[in-house]
Amino acid sequence: MHRPLAEHGGTFYTAPMRYISTRGQAPARDFADVLLAGLAEDGGLFVPESWPHFTPADWRAMRGLPYHALAARVMQPFVGDAIPFETLRKICRDAYAGFGHPAVAPLVQLETNLFTQELFHGPTLAFKDMAMQVLGRLFDHVLTARDARVTIVGATSGDTGSAAIEACAGRERVDIMILHPHERTSLVQRRQMTTVHAANVGNIALEGTFDDCQDLVKAMFADTQFRTEVHLSAVNSINWARIAAQIPYYVAAALALGAPDREVAFSVPTGNFGNVLAAWAARRMGLPVARLIVGSNRNDILFRFLESNDMSMVPVEPSLSPSMDIQVSSNFERLLFELLERDPVALTTTMQRFRETGRMPVPDATWHRARGVLHGFRLDDAGTEAEIRRLHAECGYLADPHTAIGIAAARAHAPGHGVPTVAMATAHPAKVPDAMERATGLRPPLPPRMADLYEREERFTVLPNDLAVVEAKVRALVGRNRA
Ligand SMILES: *Cc1c(COP(=O)(O)O)cnc(C)c1O
Repeated sequence: MHRPLAEHGGTFYTAPMRYISTRGQAPARDFADVLLAGLAEDGGLFVPESWPHFTPADWRAMRGLPYHALAARVMQPFVGDAIPFETLRKICRDAYAGFGHPAVAPLVQLETNLFTQELFHGPTLAFKDMAMQVLGRLFDHVLTARDARVTIVGATSGDTGSAAIEACAGRERVDIMILHPHERTSLVQRRQMTTVHAANVGNIALEGTFDDCQDLVKAMFADTQFRTEVHLSAVNSINWARIAAQIPYYVAAALALGAPDREVAFSVPTGNFGNVLAAWAARRMGLPVARLIVGSNRNDILFRFLESNDMSMVPVEPSLSPSMDIQVSSNFERLLFELLERDPVALTTTMQRFRETGRMPVPDATWHRARGVLHGFRLDDAGTEAEIRRLHAECGYLADPHTAIGIAAARAHAPGHGVPTVAMATAHPAKVPDAMERATGLRPPLPPRMADLYEREERFTVLPNDLAVVEAKVRALVGRNRA
């Protein structure tokens, strides 16, 4: 059922939205269930039962809206009747109120037909904030309605942990404990996590590696008694709500550049494939997206797939762009599901073969379908540094290594014919002052609201790599806030 809402323009879906699993063995759920569940019980990822569609008139009616209003408008069909629209609007307004730029996700022009969209004006200076800030508030809303609480635990080597902490700090229904490897994260990243002082936030510096942190998180989820006792939950990148909250900025950029009356292309520095999947979703919803360019560093599994249908796992090597250091992109499963024409049996077989053999057998027709939209690009560390230097010299623009790969990818694969290409800027250059100084001679300063990051008091507990000790620490955090 469609109901026009005059003051916001366009068609509104007031019908419920259900989600199905890519593996086909889990019951359909609504948005609130999918938000809390993360992964489906059958090990699959949730996808909308059908894709919402906006007409050119709908897109035109969204032009000129403030970012938060546009975000609510674009997310609404995915939320369906799980949350009232006015509540969703308020959640989006609050989520983006603390951003350091009035446009929230501003476009910057670099060349004729080449733009970058800055997604790093949130509290942790990386694009994860765009979705996480909404997610924390959605959790609070849904948990209040259900009179429930959750405890989020996560392991981090970088951006995700700090974005999750910023999103959950002070939320009434959520406690959050993040594990990082002691003395193995960058100073900016650690301080962004450990200087957030809220009663519901805990930080553990584990005596071990990032893999040890991840193993402990998995062990906590596997400990059924503990998991039930503290109502364990996660906010990792396979959570559908994160994808839904990443679609609006593609819409905002396209509308600003003339959509729906003009095509655009997007270039996305890619790791787990969540960000580029959101761009794909915008296209699926009717936004005129001519092409999606997928940027990789030396960890190039997606590049090899798009070049030669070679999706094969190889060990991860560290790079200048750590958030793109991946062996497998977890969200790729959602695209594959669509490419396989939503056949859960074919999808499950393909994923099982991939896990068993380390190689993904993708039929030629499916691969060609992927290549019809997606173009791969790969850049090593030397090339990335050269691109940072060039951007500074030629455009006066400071791009962090992730962003630089996206911009180089856009330059290599822009569709031409006057189609504007937008490269996603995913991290603020001040997050990596040493790399920026090596490439440009400049150390970009932190934005004024964060200038005292290095003076703030840190709070974290150093713990041994021991499940019982870590669980006790989580229990103590939870007990403090539920007493
Ligand atoms: C997470 C992240 C990425 C990768 O995004 P995906 O959605 O995982 O593909 C790229 N750049 C930065 C700075 C990130 O934090």
